[in-house]
Amino acid sequence: MTFTVHGLAVARGIAIGRAVLVASSRIDVAHYFIDASRVPEEIDRIRVARNAVVDELQRLQQGLSQMGPNDAPQELTALLDVHLMLLQDEALTSGVKHWVTERLYNAEWALTTQLEVIGRQFDEMEDEYLRERKADLEQVAERILRHMKGAASPVSPPPPSPRRNQQELLLDDTVDVPLVLVAHDLSPADMLQFKQSVFAGFVTDVGGKTSHTAIVARSMDIPAVVGARSASQLVRQDDWVIIDGDAGVMIVDPSPIILAEYGFKQRQGELERQRLSRLRHTPAVTMDGEKVELLANIEMPDDAPAALAAGALGVGLFRSEFLFMGRQGKLPGEEEQYQAYRRAVEGMQGLPVTIRTVDVGADKPLDYAHRDDAHLNPALGLRAIRWSLADPAMFRTQLRAILRAAVHGKVKLLIPMLAHGSEIRQALAQIDHARAELDNLGMAYGPIQLGAMIEIPAAALSVRMFLKHFDFLSIGTNDLIQYTLAIDRADESVAHLYDPLHPAVLKLVAETIAECRAQGKEVSVCGEMAGDVSATRLLLGLGLRSFSMHPSQILAIKQEVLRSDTRKLAGWAQAVLNDDEPSRLMPS
Ligand code: PEP
Ligand code: MG
Repeated sequence: MTFTVHGLAVARGIAIGRAVLVASSRIDVAHYFIDASRVPEEIDRIRVARNAVVDELQRLQQGLSQMGPNDAPQELTALLDVHLMLLQDEALTSGVKHWVTERLYNAEWALTTQLEVIGRQFDEMEDEYLRERKADLEQVAERILRHMKGAASPVSPPPPSPRRNQQELLLDDTVDVPLVLVAHDLSPADMLQFKQSVFAGFVTDVGGKTSHTAIVARSMDIPAVVGARSASQLVRQDDWVIIDGDAGVMIVDPSPIILAEYGFKQRQGELERQRLSRLRHTPAVTMDGEKVELLANIEMPDDAPAALAAGALGVGLFRSEFLFMGRQGKLPGEEEQYQAYRRAVEGMQGLPVTIRTVDVGADKPLDYAHRDDAHLNPALGLRAIRWSLADPAMFRTQLRAILRAAVHGKVKLLIPMLAHGSEIRQALAQIDHARAELDNLGMAYGPIQLGAMIEIPAAALSVRMFLKHFDFLSIGTNDLIQYTLAIDRADESVAHLYDPLHPAVLKLVAETIAECRAQGKEVSVCGEMAGDVSATRLLLGLGLRSFSMHPSQILAIKQEVLRSDTRKLAGWAQAVLNDDEPSRLMPS
């Protein structure tokens, strides 16, 4: 039966495919298709790992039986029995075989998929004791996965396949159907993994429009919906679903009529993309001749080609923290960072690259498994520059790497989340210190322009102080909105209050732009607002001439720029700014 689940629209487009349900803790499992000829080997990998776990548990059992009856804990013996029983359960073995044989999933993916299927059956059990055995099943599967990790697959994941026209595949029930991911939650690091994966779209139960998970989805340019509450409970493994990333809905088990309608929309979307791609080489100049700089936000050095392909004039924000995440606390050293920054700089072929120093914390934990649940307000805690200044040696490692990368091209260094004069002084002192360290070592480094992010209201209200120290400012509207309105950007339950057009937000943005222009300093917006076509004219009217966004947004924003006349927009923008309800004056 067809039903619809509503969430928040975060990344445009339509995806149609079969649902793959994944528990976030197992996201680091690789997802790729194997060649049909490798099916027996892949099934064998699971069999070998499963047998190894059976051996392991049987040895434990023997150890227990050699203890005296009073020493061997009864619960442990019973638990091992349950685990052994689950391991040998036919439903697990035959289900895993099914996913490998019929869908050509790699072994790990097949196992986690079957785990979800059986997990559901446990959830539906009346008996509480049996329901709770789901946790045992998960432990057993994790043991098998660990064994498989030890004996790595002889098949490495193939490179991501080009996007297919999903309409062609709609009713084709072979292994080649597109897959969409449905999960309760995905960390930004999980999302990065998906850049390499096979999924055509995704839906999560939690998350807000500017949560970092949503941001990475946008950068991947695949349809996505977040904040869909209980989506992962309502959808079953392998259900057909449509993800409408424009409307923020997921349609489960669609009828043929609905499928045909969305297939049509999908084709329309592809035509629109093709039409926009003709603007790639057109300079972004308004009708009245104002030049506008359109820059790219990237997460990894490998994103540079996509930025260039979209016609970006540089990188306005390289979120360097993605180099630091999901590494079980082992931070990248100077050489590794230098190589990464250098690749980004060289990848941009002489265009400027703005590298932001690490911004971890809040919804971007270094390691999702070790999220900061201890502090009540991690978004107000040791985040971004505060985290860097708390460990100056680590901070200078990053600074030295960035300074060295500046030998290879134009580098701008951007510092996130500054609010206090003392933080500015400390950050600048660390930069001087890093230069001195490189001098002592006789290592070459290049010139950099220095910028600060304006993303805390206190910073927006002290722009003059910032401009005494920095060459340029970059307005991070994602956090500026979050901190001005006291709305957690990652919390779907307050997403309706996350309002870029709140008069207070607009005032802070407008005054920052105006002060920079008055002092002849560069100013850019690099939050999601810069890539939102509905905000382009307003920002142009407020005097903004530099926008940094995901490469996938650049052409749509360019189209808006080409259709705008800033002379006409300036007066209207002031009226919007002075209105109690600015959204009233925005074109619908
Ligand atoms: C912002 O806050 O607007 C920004 C660009 O930084 P991030 O989204 O990485 O917090
Ligand atoms: Mg920010």
